[in-house]
Amino acid sequence: MVYIAGKTVAEWKREHPLLDFIQSSQEVLWLNPRWLPAAQVLPSLSVSRAEVVDAEQRLLRFAPYIQRAFPETIVDGGLIESPLRAICEMQEGMQREFDTDIVGPMLLKLDSELKISGSIKARGGIYEVLKIAERLAFAADMLEAHTDYSVLANPSFRKHFSQYRIVVGSTGNLGLSIGIMGAKLGFQVSVHMSTEAKQWKKDKLRSLGVEVVEHSSDYTQAVQAGRREAQASDNIFFVDDDHSRDLFLGYAVAASRLQGQLERLQVSIGPHHPLVVYLPCGVGGGPGGIAFGLKLLYGDSVHIYFVEPTHSPSMLLGLMTGQHDAVSVQDFGLDNHTAADGLAVGRPSRFVGRVMDHLIDGIYTVSDERLYQLLSLLQDSEQIAVEPSAAAGLFGPVVLHRSGKPDFGDSRFRQLQSVLHSSTHLVWATGGSMVPRDVMRDDYNRGQMLRN
Ligand SMILES: *Cc1c(COP(=O)(O)O)cnc(C)c1O
Repeated sequence: MVYIAGKTVAEWKREHPLLDFIQSSQEVLWLNPRWLPAAQVLPSLSVSRAEVVDAEQRLLRFAPYIQRAFPETIVDGGLIESPLRAICEMQEGMQREFDTDIVGPMLLKLDSELKISGSIKARGGIYEVLKIAERLAFAADMLEAHTDYSVLANPSFRKHFSQYRIVVGSTGNLGLSIGIMGAKLGFQVSVHMSTEAKQWKKDKLRSLGVEVVEHSSDYTQAVQAGRREAQASDNIFFVDDDHSRDLFLGYAVAASRLQGQLERLQVSIGPHHPLVVYLPCGVGGGPGGIAFGLKLLYGDSVHIYFVEPTHSPSMLLGLMTGQHDAVSVQDFGLDNHTAADGLAVGRPSRFVGRVMDHLIDGIYTVSDERLYQLLSLLQDSEQIAVEPSAAAGLFGPVVLHRSGKPDFGDSRFRQLQSVLHSSTHLVWATGGSMVPRDVMRDDYNRGQMLRN
């Protein structure tokens, strides 16, 4: 008898009938039975509002340096932030192609266009590297909190940082962010890439002098290999995507920036005008950090849905079973193979799972075919190019509208259904602008074929 975290598959299925559908890679919607009001949950979490504010302030201190090192950020004052845009044409196209009503405006948060590394990882990944650099510079008495941080671009700093190495395990995008930022500051960087990692991401990193170690195994093993390398010396920093608070906090800063953008678009948010947010999830840090930041600002008026590929529903399995990283998608017979390389994670972050346990409203899954369809429809309707992972959030409004049956869902879900007409759907597009044109064209063509 094979046991998964102490139970047989049959026992798990009796407890969670949805597992039958998950195991056969069907698209599902799971609603979180452990959801609780934010006021009850937030005070007891292991992360706090003060830490998010601290991260925000650190990014402000670094803004003069970021402007100097990456002149494309001058227009944003050295902050790495993405546009927020209404996607009316896409909304119409989706209603037509999926034959569903979508009421309430759809907004797209374009992290696909984030400067420096073209994905959501430009938030957490870059933040963590900056924090390491600051700590080292403080320790060497080269910098103080009130100094103009643009001095960090001087050769003396590069020379100092070159004694240290930053190591990370990644499916691609985190490696890109850490590699680009680390190399710019002068660090040595090694990136352990899992099997999904796209060739162009490895090529880009090598062109910057970053060491790329290729693994034929999945993300979890690539991270373990990185962790082992980092144990060899005190001069090595390991960016631990499974457990990092700093990554999480870097992502969380997105929320207050978004709040300003929503206000400028005159979107009001409250109990009768909820904000429904759809976030693609890999190991969990990106969507978890952003969700946490939004919960601090909007409480129960924000509804959080994560989305995962049907072949990699790791956060879903972790939360549903309550076992977090003690269970993997492979344990349940899934292969963790997906075109959504940024989401190809077989085992979720326990740290993030525990933070989200009572905050998240639900998780839905999408097939790879769906991702290509959405990607191509977005290109046709809005001329916006995203990578497959980043298209996953777009399906959320369809899933919610299709599930609006009177006999489905708990009271929180039915309450949302009753105010769906006056809600705002916010889809997080998590990556894309660095994808080479030929790769993007192939993805688009694939989606075109599937739509016909
Ligand atoms: C990493 C990534 C995500 C998910 O972030 P996690 O922190 O792994 O959950 C989503 N989309 C893209 C494009 C990514 O690279």
